[in-house]
Amino acid sequence: MDRRIYGIETEFGLAHSAPRARPLPPEEAARRLFAPVVAWGRSSNVFLPNGGRLYLDVGSHPEYATAECATLEDLVAQDKAGELILDDLRRRAEHALAEEGAPGSLYLFKNNVDSRGNSFGSHENYLIARRTGFPRLLAVLIPFLVTRQLLVGAGKLHPTGPEQFGTTALGTPGAPSYSFSQRADHIWEASSSATTRSRPLINTRDEPHADPQHHRRLHVIVGDSTMSQTTTALRIGTTDLVLRMIEAGRIMPDRTLADPVRALREISHDLTGTTRVALADGSRRSALDLQREHLEAARDFVDREGAHHDRVPWVLDLWERGLEAVARRDASAVDTELDWAIKRRLLDDYAARHGLDEASPRLAQLDLAYHDTAPGRGLFDLLERRGLAARFVPAERVEAATRTPPPTRAAVRGRFVEAVVASGHHYTVDWVHLKVNDRAQRTVVCQDPFAAVSAEADALIDSLRPAGAGPAAPHGDTPVL
Ligand code: ATP
Ligand code: MG
Ligand code: MG
Repeated sequence: MDRRIYGIETEFGLAHSAPRARPLPPEEAARRLFAPVVAWGRSSNVFLPNGGRLYLDVGSHPEYATAECATLEDLVAQDKAGELILDDLRRRAEHALAEEGAPGSLYLFKNNVDSRGNSFGSHENYLIARRTGFPRLLAVLIPFLVTRQLLVGAGKLHPTGPEQFGTTALGTPGAPSYSFSQRADHIWEASSSATTRSRPLINTRDEPHADPQHHRRLHVIVGDSTMSQTTTALRIGTTDLVLRMIEAGRIMPDRTLADPVRALREISHDLTGTTRVALADGSRRSALDLQREHLEAARDFVDREGAHHDRVPWVLDLWERGLEAVARRDASAVDTELDWAIKRRLLDDYAARHGLDEASPRLAQLDLAYHDTAPGRGLFDLLERRGLAARFVPAERVEAATRTPPPTRAAVRGRFVEAVVASGHHYTVDWVHLKVNDRAQRTVVCQDPFAAVSAEADALIDSLRPAGAGPAAPHGDTPVL
């Protein structure tokens, strides 16, 4: 495939605190957060004018799914735009509560584990060709996904050491430690069709949201939520390159892991990258070895086939520097670009300045505050403002992405949503369908996720306006715009 559609779904952790009062239970906090969404879209599960989806799933983790994007820049912008959209809701909810005489603060965390040990995810979606054999794809992709945390893990401090896993010794039991990944300790299977109960690396449920004859949607659920724009771009950019090699039928050595779930944990808890994990063929390899092999294969592939987008050299360069940093045990070359290293530096600097050891609860608080998405309060945001975290796209582009869909099918959906909300019709939208729930039940099917124009959708949108009227006026108080 020459082009690819990508999307990222992020579940957020939600918390509330109030002076001299009990915090709102999570369900109530979520209900307050979504009040403007429900007022706007008559549901707590809506598609937005920027083409993305905002919803409250079971439990009380708000989720934002980006629109379908065809470039890394659009994807990073749409992903960060989700944080701004939720922050807008946060501020509205705080304001409403204060007006009612119940002042307090709401927190939205873009991380993967809450204080009760529940894990929530960051799901990556990649459009892939149906003809690519899925078993072979999984065989090559799983060892890559298990080892890429060296680059794209969000980092996690374990004040009392890693949670032990069966008979596998991880770190020194009880001693404080830092791991590459937040999510690794919460994955239980290599691939399956369940997302919650047995939590696999890859969800195999087959919902392409595209022409099922030609396409499949690969649903990777092992990844950490990434705060850093450059880490997000690297996460998707490297995975896309590996998928391209698989799709091109490139012969890759068999690196099937004996136990991917065990390997995931072992690698996460070894910051040297040198622990050798067991392969199915009985040999042992380190995460660094396996990643270097992937990088070399990708370099070779790009040399031969050419770069398929203009950020490929950037991806390869950061990929290499990331592995070098682990190998040298010196993250200074990537500590503005890779989340685990940015956060590690923040924690180390703070600990040194205040004479704290790694077990200090203040450091655990800092780890959490790194993922607080409130601009001006969240520590990642403060680092970015001070130039201590690199950007992949300018702030204006993120801001624009809260309203503007990327030039894919999302653009058609965004226009429809805006028009139908303004016209007041009841409607139903999903990734593929746009439907007006009037007597005629008119429905437009958008099977091609690359198609940014649709004459059929235009006709439907035009029919929503009274004849002769200009463009539809924006609807009152939209929650998200
Ligand atoms: P759920 O989260 O409820 O289990 P789901 O996995 O289908 O369902 P959504 O939250 O609806 O996920 O998000 C779907 C994601 O897939 C979005 O980020 C969207 O942009 C992306 N997407 C939509 N169509 C395609 C496609 N054809 N190929 C790849 N990604 C797609
Ligand atoms: Mg989802
Ligand atoms: Mg999902």
